[in-house]
Amino acid sequence: MDTVITRFPPSPTGYLHVGGARTALFNWLYARHMKGRFVLRIEDTDTRRSTQASVDAIFEALEWLGIDWDEGPYFQSKRFDIYLEYIDKLIDSGNAYYCTCSQEKLEEMRATAMASGKKPKYDGTCRNKELKKTDNAVVRIKAPLDGTTVVRDVIKNNIVFNNTELDDFIICRSDGTPTYNLAVVVDDITMSINTIIRGDDHVNNTPKQIIIYNALGHSLPVFGHVPMVLGSDKTRLSKRHGAMSVTEYKDMGYLPDAFINYIVRLGWSYGDQEFFTRDELIEKFSLENIGRSAGVFDINKLLALNADHIKLSDPDKITKHLAPFLNKLGFEFREGPFIEGVIKTLNARSKTLKEMAENAAFYFQDTISYQEDAASKFLTADSVEILNTLIALFEALESFDEKSIENVFVKIMEQTGLKLGKIAQPVRVALTGKTISPGVFEILNVLGKEKSINRLKMAASFIGDKKS
Ligand code: GLU
Repeated sequence: MDTVITRFPPSPTGYLHVGGARTALFNWLYARHMKGRFVLRIEDTDTRRSTQASVDAIFEALEWLGIDWDEGPYFQSKRFDIYLEYIDKLIDSGNAYYCTCSQEKLEEMRATAMASGKKPKYDGTCRNKELKKTDNAVVRIKAPLDGTTVVRDVIKNNIVFNNTELDDFIICRSDGTPTYNLAVVVDDITMSINTIIRGDDHVNNTPKQIIIYNALGHSLPVFGHVPMVLGSDKTRLSKRHGAMSVTEYKDMGYLPDAFINYIVRLGWSYGDQEFFTRDELIEKFSLENIGRSAGVFDINKLLALNADHIKLSDPDKITKHLAPFLNKLGFEFREGPFIEGVIKTLNARSKTLKEMAENAAFYFQDTISYQEDAASKFLTADSVEILNTLIALFEALESFDEKSIENVFVKIMEQTGLKLGKIAQPVRVALTGKTISPGVFEILNVLGKEKSINRLKMAASFIGDKKS
Protein backbone atom coordinates (compact mmCIF):
# COMPACT_ATOMS: atom_id res chain seq x y z
CA MET A 1 0.00 0.00 0.00
CA ASP A 2 1.07 3.60 -0.60
CA THR A 3 2.21 5.66 2.34
CA VAL A 4 -0.81 6.46 4.50
CA ILE A 5 -1.47 10.21 4.57
CA THR A 6 -4.07 11.48 7.02
CA ARG A 7 -5.10 14.98 7.97
CA PHE A 8 -6.73 17.08 10.64
CA PRO A 9 -8.59 20.08 9.25
CA PRO A 10 -10.12 22.12 12.09
CA SER A 11 -12.23 25.20 11.44
CA PRO A 12 -10.81 27.95 13.67
CA THR A 13 -14.11 29.19 15.02
CA GLY A 14 -13.41 28.33 18.67
CA TYR A 15 -11.14 26.28 20.89
CA LEU A 16 -10.21 22.65 20.18
CA HIS A 17 -12.91 20.58 21.86
CA VAL A 18 -12.89 17.01 23.11
CA GLY A 19 -14.47 15.57 19.94
CA GLY A 20 -12.08 17.45 17.66
CA ALA A 21 -9.13 16.30 19.72
CA ARG A 22 -10.26 12.71 19.35
CA THR A 23 -10.52 13.09 15.57
CA ALA A 24 -7.04 14.61 15.45
CA LEU A 25 -5.73 11.81 17.65
CA PHE A 26 -7.23 9.00 15.54
CA ASN A 27 -5.69 10.45 12.36
CA TRP A 28 -2.36 11.10 14.03
CA LEU A 29 -2.18 7.66 15.65
CA TYR A 30 -3.05 5.95 12.40
CA ALA A 31 -0.40 7.90 10.51
CA ARG A 32 2.19 7.13 13.17
CA HIS A 33 1.16 3.46 13.38
CA MET A 34 1.42 3.07 9.60
CA LYS A 35 4.65 5.10 9.44
CA GLY A 36 2.74 7.51 7.24
CA ARG A 37 2.28 11.26 7.27
CA PHE A 38 -0.08 13.58 9.11
CA VAL A 39 -1.12 16.92 7.63
CA LEU A 40 -2.57 19.92 9.48
CA ARG A 41 -4.88 22.21 7.57
CA ILE A 42 -6.79 25.19 8.91
CA GLU A 43 -10.21 25.51 7.27
CA ASP A 44 -10.63 29.24 7.63
CA THR A 45 -12.70 30.14 4.58
CA ASP A 46 -15.55 31.34 6.78
CA THR A 47 -13.87 34.68 7.43
CA ARG A 48 -16.70 35.98 9.62
CA ARG A 49 -16.33 33.17 12.15
CA SER A 50 -12.61 32.31 11.89
CA THR A 51 -10.23 34.05 14.29
CA GLN A 52 -6.50 34.11 14.91
CA ALA A 53 -7.19 33.48 18.61
CA SER A 54 -8.86 30.19 17.67
CA VAL A 55 -5.94 29.22 15.42
CA ASP A 56 -3.56 29.88 18.33
CA ALA A 57 -5.78 27.94 20.75
CA ILE A 58 -5.82 24.95 18.38
CA PHE A 59 -2.02 24.99 18.03
CA GLU A 60 -1.63 25.24 21.80
CA ALA A 61 -3.97 22.31 22.37
CA LEU A 62 -2.28 20.12 19.74
CA GLU A 63 1.11 20.93 21.14
CA TRP A 64 -0.03 19.99 24.64
CA LEU A 65 -1.54 16.75 23.37
CA GLY A 66 1.78 15.94 21.68
CA ILE A 67 0.12 15.70 18.28
CA ASP A 68 2.74 16.88 15.82
CA TRP A 69 2.30 17.24 12.09
CA ASP A 70 4.58 16.42 9.17
CA GLU A 71 3.12 18.97 6.79
CA GLY A 72 1.33 22.28 7.14
CA PRO A 73 -0.29 24.09 8.68
CA TYR A 74 -1.95 24.97 5.41
CA PHE A 75 -4.55 27.73 5.47
CA GLN A 76 -7.49 27.44 3.08
CA SER A 77 -7.79 31.23 2.96
CA LYS A 78 -4.42 31.29 1.16
CA ARG A 79 -5.34 28.68 -1.42
CA PHE A 80 -8.13 30.30 -3.41
CA ASP A 81 -6.09 30.30 -6.65
CA ILE A 82 -5.83 26.51 -6.46
CA TYR A 83 -9.57 26.08 -5.89
CA LEU A 84 -10.39 28.35 -8.82
CA GLU A 85 -8.03 26.38 -11.06
CA TYR A 86 -9.92 23.19 -10.19
CA ILE A 87 -13.30 24.86 -10.71
CA ASP A 88 -12.13 25.89 -14.20
CA LYS A 89 -11.01 22.31 -14.86
CA LEU A 90 -14.47 21.05 -13.95
CA ILE A 91 -16.15 23.59 -16.23
CA ASP A 92 -13.75 22.86 -19.12
CA SER A 93 -14.34 19.11 -18.83
CA GLY A 94 -18.13 19.63 -18.88
CA ASN A 95 -18.55 18.45 -15.29
CA ALA A 96 -19.66 21.81 -13.97
CA TYR A 97 -21.52 24.77 -15.40
CA TYR A 98 -22.41 28.40 -14.81
CA CYS A 99 -25.88 29.02 -13.48
CA THR A 100 -27.60 32.38 -13.53
CA CYS A 101 -30.91 31.45 -11.92
CA SER A 102 -32.11 34.33 -9.76
CA GLN A 103 -32.94 34.09 -6.08
CA GLU A 104 -36.64 34.42 -6.94
CA LYS A 105 -36.40 31.56 -9.39
CA LEU A 106 -34.68 29.37 -6.80
CA GLU A 107 -37.31 30.28 -4.23
CA GLU A 108 -39.99 29.31 -6.71
CA MET A 109 -38.33 25.91 -7.30
CA ARG A 110 -38.17 25.40 -3.57
CA ALA A 111 -41.80 26.28 -3.03
CA THR A 112 -42.97 24.00 -5.84
CA ALA A 113 -40.95 21.07 -4.51
CA MET A 114 -42.22 21.59 -0.96
CA ALA A 115 -45.80 21.89 -2.16
CA SER A 116 -45.60 18.47 -3.79
CA GLY A 117 -43.92 17.00 -0.71
CA LYS A 118 -40.52 16.66 -2.40
CA LYS A 119 -37.10 17.60 -1.08
CA PRO A 120 -36.17 21.08 -2.41
CA LYS A 121 -33.42 20.86 -4.99
CA TYR A 122 -32.08 22.62 -8.01
CA ASP A 123 -34.07 21.60 -11.10
CA GLY A 124 -31.24 21.76 -13.64
CA THR A 125 -32.48 24.83 -15.55
CA CYS A 126 -28.93 25.91 -16.57
CA ARG A 127 -27.39 22.41 -16.69
CA ASN A 128 -27.21 22.16 -20.46
CA LYS A 129 -27.20 25.82 -21.44
CA GLU A 130 -23.39 26.10 -21.57
CA LEU A 131 -23.58 29.64 -20.23
CA LYS A 132 -20.48 31.82 -20.12
CA LYS A 133 -19.17 33.36 -16.95
CA THR A 134 -21.12 36.47 -15.92
CA ASP A 135 -21.00 38.66 -12.86
CA ASN A 136 -23.69 37.00 -10.83
CA ALA A 137 -23.27 33.44 -12.06
CA VAL A 138 -22.55 30.61 -9.63
CA VAL A 139 -20.86 27.37 -10.67
CA ARG A 140 -22.74 24.09 -10.15
CA ILE A 141 -21.44 20.56 -10.39
CA LYS A 142 -23.21 18.17 -12.77
CA ALA A 143 -24.30 15.55 -10.29
CA PRO A 144 -25.47 12.13 -11.48
CA LEU A 145 -29.24 12.15 -12.06
CA ASP A 146 -29.95 8.58 -11.07
CA GLY A 147 -28.29 5.59 -9.44
CA THR A 148 -26.61 5.71 -6.06
CA THR A 149 -23.51 7.16 -4.49
CA VAL A 150 -22.01 4.75 -2.00
CA VAL A 151 -19.73 5.79 0.83
CA ARG A 152 -17.56 2.76 1.57
CA ASP A 153 -16.97 3.51 5.18
CA VAL A 154 -14.35 1.53 7.10
CA ILE A 155 -16.30 2.06 10.32
CA LYS A 156 -19.96 2.04 9.30
CA ASN A 157 -19.67 -0.16 6.20
CA ASN A 158 -21.51 0.95 3.07
CA ILE A 159 -23.70 4.02 3.35
CA VAL A 160 -25.89 4.33 0.26
CA PHE A 161 -27.26 7.66 -0.98
CA ASN A 162 -29.81 7.83 -3.79
CA ASN A 163 -28.60 10.31 -6.36
CA THR A 164 -32.14 11.58 -6.77
CA GLU A 165 -31.76 12.98 -3.25
CA LEU A 166 -28.78 15.06 -4.33
CA ASP A 167 -28.76 17.96 -6.76
CA ASP A 168 -26.37 20.04 -8.82
CA PHE A 169 -24.94 21.78 -5.78
CA ILE A 170 -22.92 24.98 -5.97
CA ILE A 171 -19.13 24.68 -5.96
CA CYS A 172 -18.36 28.37 -6.55
CA ARG A 173 -20.42 31.31 -5.31
CA SER A 174 -21.20 34.35 -7.45
CA ASP A 175 -18.53 36.35 -5.60
CA GLY A 176 -15.93 33.85 -6.86
CA THR A 177 -15.39 32.05 -3.54
CA PRO A 178 -15.34 28.25 -3.53
CA THR A 179 -17.80 26.37 -1.34
CA TYR A 180 -16.78 24.17 1.53
CA ASN A 181 -17.02 20.75 -0.12
CA LEU A 182 -15.09 21.87 -3.18
CA ALA A 183 -12.26 23.31 -1.08
CA VAL A 184 -12.05 20.16 1.05
CA VAL A 185 -11.80 17.83 -1.95
CA VAL A 186 -9.26 19.99 -3.79
CA ASP A 187 -7.16 20.15 -0.63
CA ASP A 188 -7.40 16.44 0.03
CA ILE A 189 -6.41 15.69 -3.57
CA THR A 190 -3.55 18.18 -3.76
CA MET A 191 -2.26 17.16 -0.34
CA SER A 192 -2.39 13.48 -1.40
CA ILE A 193 -4.63 12.57 1.52
CA ASN A 194 -5.66 8.94 1.20
CA THR A 195 -7.32 8.29 4.56
CA ILE A 196 -10.03 10.50 6.05
CA ILE A 197 -11.28 9.77 9.56
CA ARG A 198 -13.79 12.32 10.81
CA GLY A 199 -16.88 12.76 12.93
CA ASP A 200 -20.10 11.32 11.56
CA ASP A 201 -21.63 14.80 11.63
CA HIS A 202 -19.85 15.11 8.25
CA VAL A 203 -21.36 12.01 6.72
CA ASN A 204 -23.84 13.97 4.60
CA ASN A 205 -21.02 15.92 2.99
CA THR A 206 -19.29 12.76 1.85
CA PRO A 207 -21.52 11.84 -1.15
CA LYS A 208 -21.10 15.40 -2.44
CA GLN A 209 -17.37 15.10 -2.03
CA ILE A 210 -17.39 11.74 -3.81
CA ILE A 211 -19.23 13.37 -6.73
CA ILE A 212 -16.46 15.98 -6.96
CA TYR A 213 -13.73 13.31 -6.82
CA ASN A 214 -15.48 11.40 -9.60
CA ALA A 215 -15.93 14.54 -11.69
CA LEU A 216 -12.22 15.22 -11.36
CA GLY A 217 -11.46 11.62 -12.30
CA HIS A 218 -9.62 11.08 -9.05
CA SER A 219 -9.58 7.91 -6.96
CA LEU A 220 -11.34 8.05 -3.60
CA PRO A 221 -9.61 8.09 -0.26
CA VAL A 222 -10.53 5.66 2.51
CA PHE A 223 -13.37 7.18 4.54
CA GLY A 224 -14.28 6.43 8.15
CA HIS A 225 -16.94 8.30 10.10
CA VAL A 226 -16.62 8.11 13.85
CA PRO A 227 -19.71 8.34 16.09
CA MET A 228 -19.94 11.51 18.14
CA VAL A 229 -18.81 11.60 21.76
CA LEU A 230 -21.79 11.69 24.15
CA GLY A 231 -22.30 13.17 27.61
CA SER A 232 -23.57 11.19 30.61
CA ASP A 233 -27.21 11.70 29.53
CA LYS A 234 -26.40 10.17 26.11
CA THR A 235 -26.86 13.41 24.22
CA ARG A 236 -24.02 14.84 22.16
CA LEU A 237 -21.23 16.09 24.41
CA SER A 238 -21.52 19.84 24.93
CA LYS A 239 -20.73 22.57 27.42
CA ARG A 240 -23.69 21.47 29.52
CA HIS A 241 -21.71 18.36 30.43
CA GLY A 242 -18.63 20.23 31.66
CA ALA A 243 -15.38 21.47 30.21
CA MET A 244 -15.22 21.09 26.43
CA SER A 245 -11.97 22.80 25.61
CA VAL A 246 -8.87 20.61 25.62
CA THR A 247 -6.79 23.34 27.25
CA GLU A 248 -9.19 23.43 30.20
CA TYR A 249 -8.08 19.88 30.95
CA LYS A 250 -4.48 21.01 30.77
CA ASP A 251 -5.28 23.75 33.31
CA MET A 252 -7.05 21.30 35.60
CA GLY A 253 -3.87 19.25 35.86
CA TYR A 254 -4.36 16.35 33.49
CA LEU A 255 -1.32 14.75 31.89
CA PRO A 256 -1.54 14.81 28.08
CA ASP A 257 -0.75 11.08 27.93
CA ALA A 258 -3.65 10.35 30.28
CA PHE A 259 -5.96 12.59 28.29
CA ILE A 260 -5.15 10.94 24.96
CA ASN A 261 -5.41 7.52 26.59
CA TYR A 262 -8.90 8.45 27.77
CA ILE A 263 -10.23 10.01 24.59
CA VAL A 264 -8.88 7.30 22.32
CA ARG A 265 -10.96 4.82 24.29
CA LEU A 266 -14.11 6.84 23.51
CA GLY A 267 -14.43 5.06 20.21
CA TRP A 268 -11.54 2.63 19.93
CA SER A 269 -10.73 -0.47 21.91
CA TYR A 270 -8.11 -3.15 22.24
CA GLY A 271 -9.67 -6.04 24.11
CA ASP A 272 -10.54 -4.73 27.53
CA GLN A 273 -7.23 -2.97 28.08
CA GLU A 274 -7.80 0.50 29.59
CA PHE A 275 -4.31 1.82 30.27
CA PHE A 276 -2.04 2.62 27.34
CA THR A 277 1.17 4.56 27.09
CA ARG A 278 1.57 6.79 24.05
CA ASP A 279 3.99 4.30 22.44
CA GLU A 280 1.58 1.45 23.04
CA LEU A 281 -1.21 3.41 21.36
CA ILE A 282 0.95 4.00 18.33
CA GLU A 283 1.83 0.33 18.23
CA LYS A 284 -1.71 -0.97 18.68
CA PHE A 285 -3.97 1.58 16.97
CA SER A 286 -5.93 0.35 13.97
CA LEU A 287 -9.00 1.45 12.04
CA GLU A 288 -10.61 -2.00 12.45
CA ASN A 289 -10.99 -1.47 16.17
CA ILE A 290 -12.82 1.84 15.95
CA GLY A 291 -16.30 1.10 17.32
CA ARG A 292 -19.67 1.80 15.80
CA SER A 293 -21.31 2.99 18.96
CA ALA A 294 -20.74 6.36 20.54
CA GLY A 295 -18.43 6.70 23.55
CA VAL A 296 -19.75 8.37 26.70
CA PHE A 297 -17.47 10.91 28.34
CA ASP A 298 -17.06 10.24 32.06
CA ILE A 299 -14.87 12.69 33.96
CA ASN A 300 -14.40 10.25 36.85
CA LYS A 301 -12.88 7.65 34.55
CA LEU A 302 -10.60 10.29 33.11
CA LEU A 303 -9.57 11.29 36.63
CA ALA A 304 -8.81 7.69 37.62
CA LEU A 305 -6.76 7.19 34.46
CA ASN A 306 -4.90 10.42 35.16
CA ALA A 307 -3.98 9.14 38.62
CA ASP A 308 -2.65 5.93 37.05
CA HIS A 309 -0.57 7.84 34.50
CA ILE A 310 0.83 10.14 37.18
CA LYS A 311 1.78 7.09 39.25
CA LEU A 312 3.34 5.13 36.43
CA SER A 313 5.09 7.83 34.37
CA ASP A 314 8.79 8.54 34.81
CA PRO A 315 9.16 11.57 37.10
CA ASP A 316 11.34 13.33 34.53
CA LYS A 317 8.40 13.16 32.11
CA ILE A 318 6.09 14.78 34.64
CA THR A 319 8.36 17.68 35.59
CA LYS A 320 7.59 19.96 32.67
CA HIS A 321 3.84 19.48 33.05
CA LEU A 322 3.98 20.06 36.80
CA ALA A 323 6.08 23.22 36.46
CA PRO A 324 3.25 25.68 35.65
CA PHE A 325 1.25 24.52 38.67
CA LEU A 326 4.21 25.01 41.01
CA ASN A 327 5.04 28.36 39.44
CA LYS A 328 1.48 29.47 39.96
CA LEU A 329 1.88 28.79 43.67
CA GLY A 330 5.04 30.92 43.59
CA PHE A 331 7.55 28.05 43.70
CA GLU A 332 10.59 28.06 41.45
CA PHE A 333 12.82 25.07 40.80
CA ARG A 334 15.31 23.67 38.37
CA GLU A 335 14.88 20.38 36.57
CA GLY A 336 16.89 17.64 38.21
CA PRO A 337 17.04 15.15 41.07
CA PHE A 338 15.31 17.40 43.64
CA ILE A 339 12.08 17.85 41.72
CA GLU A 340 12.14 14.24 40.53
CA GLY A 341 12.50 13.16 44.15
CA VAL A 342 9.54 15.36 45.09
CA ILE A 343 7.45 13.75 42.35
CA LYS A 344 8.41 10.22 43.39
CA THR A 345 7.10 10.83 46.89
CA LEU A 346 3.77 12.21 45.63
CA ASN A 347 2.96 10.34 42.45
CA ALA A 348 0.96 7.63 44.15
CA ARG A 349 -1.13 10.14 46.08
CA SER A 350 -2.09 12.79 43.49
CA LYS A 351 -4.95 12.50 41.03
CA THR A 352 -4.03 15.67 39.17
CA LEU A 353 -0.92 17.77 38.75
CA LYS A 354 -2.70 20.63 40.49
CA GLU A 355 -3.20 18.42 43.52
CA MET A 356 0.42 17.28 43.30
CA ALA A 357 1.65 20.88 43.30
CA GLU A 358 -0.49 21.69 46.33
CA ASN A 359 0.76 18.57 48.11
CA ALA A 360 4.33 19.51 47.25
CA ALA A 361 4.13 22.97 48.81
CA PHE A 362 5.96 22.00 52.02
CA TYR A 363 9.06 21.06 50.04
CA PHE A 364 9.41 24.63 48.79
CA GLN A 365 8.48 26.65 51.84
CA ASP A 366 11.26 28.17 53.92
CA THR A 367 9.25 28.07 57.10
CA ILE A 368 6.63 25.48 57.85
CA SER A 369 3.37 26.54 59.38
CA TYR A 370 2.08 23.74 61.58
CA GLN A 371 -1.55 22.70 61.48
CA GLU A 372 -2.94 23.49 64.88
CA ASP A 373 -4.09 20.03 65.89
CA ALA A 374 -0.94 18.44 64.47
CA ALA A 375 1.26 20.74 66.51
CA SER A 376 -0.68 20.36 69.72
CA LYS A 377 -0.66 16.58 69.43
CA PHE A 378 2.89 15.93 68.23
CA LEU A 379 5.08 18.98 68.84
CA THR A 380 5.07 18.47 72.56
CA ALA A 381 7.67 18.64 75.31
CA ASP A 382 8.10 14.86 74.98
CA SER A 383 9.21 15.08 71.40
CA VAL A 384 11.94 17.69 71.89
CA GLU A 385 14.35 15.04 72.99
CA ILE A 386 13.59 12.88 69.98
CA LEU A 387 14.08 15.84 67.67
CA ASN A 388 17.35 16.84 69.30
CA THR A 389 18.69 13.29 69.18
CA LEU A 390 17.82 13.10 65.52
CA ILE A 391 19.50 16.40 64.83
CA ALA A 392 22.68 15.23 66.51
CA LEU A 393 22.71 11.88 64.70
CA PHE A 394 21.91 13.46 61.35
CA GLU A 395 24.68 16.00 61.78
CA ALA A 396 27.13 13.16 62.23
CA LEU A 397 26.01 11.40 59.05
CA GLU A 398 28.40 11.52 56.14
CA SER A 399 25.99 10.30 53.55
CA PHE A 400 22.39 11.40 53.94
CA ASP A 401 20.54 8.73 51.99
CA GLU A 402 17.37 6.81 52.69
CA LYS A 403 19.20 3.81 54.12
CA SER A 404 21.34 5.77 56.55
CA ILE A 405 18.33 7.85 57.55
CA GLU A 406 16.41 4.69 58.34
CA ASN A 407 19.35 3.36 60.35
CA VAL A 408 19.24 6.47 62.52
CA PHE A 409 15.58 5.85 63.27
CA VAL A 410 16.28 2.20 64.11
CA LYS A 411 19.02 3.26 66.45
CA ILE A 412 16.71 5.65 68.31
CA MET A 413 14.02 2.99 68.51
CA GLU A 414 16.54 0.60 70.05
CA GLN A 415 17.82 3.19 72.48
CA THR A 416 14.43 4.44 73.61
CA GLY A 417 12.20 1.44 73.12
CA LEU A 418 9.76 3.71 71.25
CA LYS A 419 7.78 2.49 68.26
CA LEU A 420 8.52 4.03 64.86
CA GLY A 421 5.21 5.94 64.80
CA LYS A 422 6.06 7.74 68.02
CA ILE A 423 9.28 9.00 66.51
CA ALA A 424 8.05 9.55 62.99
CA GLN A 425 4.94 11.61 63.73
CA PRO A 426 6.68 14.61 65.36
CA VAL A 427 9.25 14.45 62.59
CA ARG A 428 6.50 14.45 59.98
CA VAL A 429 4.86 17.50 61.53
CA ALA A 430 8.25 19.22 61.77
CA LEU A 431 8.95 18.58 58.10
CA THR A 432 5.52 19.15 56.58
CA GLY A 433 3.31 20.86 59.18
CA LYS A 434 0.78 18.03 58.78
CA THR A 435 0.03 14.56 60.12
CA ILE A 436 -0.48 13.04 56.70
CA SER A 437 2.30 13.06 54.14
CA PRO A 438 4.58 10.77 52.17
CA GLY A 439 6.95 8.60 54.22
CA VAL A 440 9.32 10.56 56.44
CA PHE A 441 12.46 8.74 55.25
CA GLU A 442 11.61 9.67 51.68
CA ILE A 443 10.91 13.29 52.60
CA LEU A 444 14.13 13.62 54.56
CA ASN A 445 16.05 12.14 51.67
CA VAL A 446 14.52 14.57 49.17
CA LEU A 447 14.95 17.61 51.41
CA GLY A 448 18.59 16.75 52.07
CA LYS A 449 20.63 17.05 55.22
CA GLU A 450 20.73 20.80 55.70
CA LYS A 451 17.08 21.57 55.15
CA SER A 452 15.98 18.55 57.18
CA ILE A 453 18.08 19.52 60.17
CA ASN A 454 16.88 23.08 59.84
CA ARG A 455 13.24 22.02 60.00
CA LEU A 456 13.83 19.77 62.99
CA LYS A 457 15.57 22.65 64.78
CA MET A 458 12.68 24.99 63.96
CA ALA A 459 10.21 22.52 65.40
CA ALA A 460 12.31 22.07 68.54
CA SER A 461 12.46 25.80 69.09
CA PHE A 462 8.73 26.10 68.37
CA ILE A 463 8.16 23.67 71.24
CA GLY A 464 10.60 25.62 73.39
CA ASP A 465 8.70 28.84 72.67
CA LYS A 466 5.42 27.17 73.55
CA LYS A 467 6.74 26.12 76.96
CA SER A 468 8.10 29.51 77.95
N1 GLU B 1 -13.36 21.60 9.12
C1 GLU B 1 -14.21 20.52 9.50
C2 GLU B 1 -14.49 20.59 10.97
O1 GLU B 1 -13.82 21.30 11.70
C3 GLU B 1 -13.59 19.18 9.20
C4 GLU B 1 -13.96 18.68 7.87
C5 GLU B 1 -13.41 17.32 7.49
O2 GLU B 1 -12.83 16.60 8.31
O3 GLU B 1 -13.54 16.99 6.31
O4 GLU B 1 -15.41 19.96 11.43
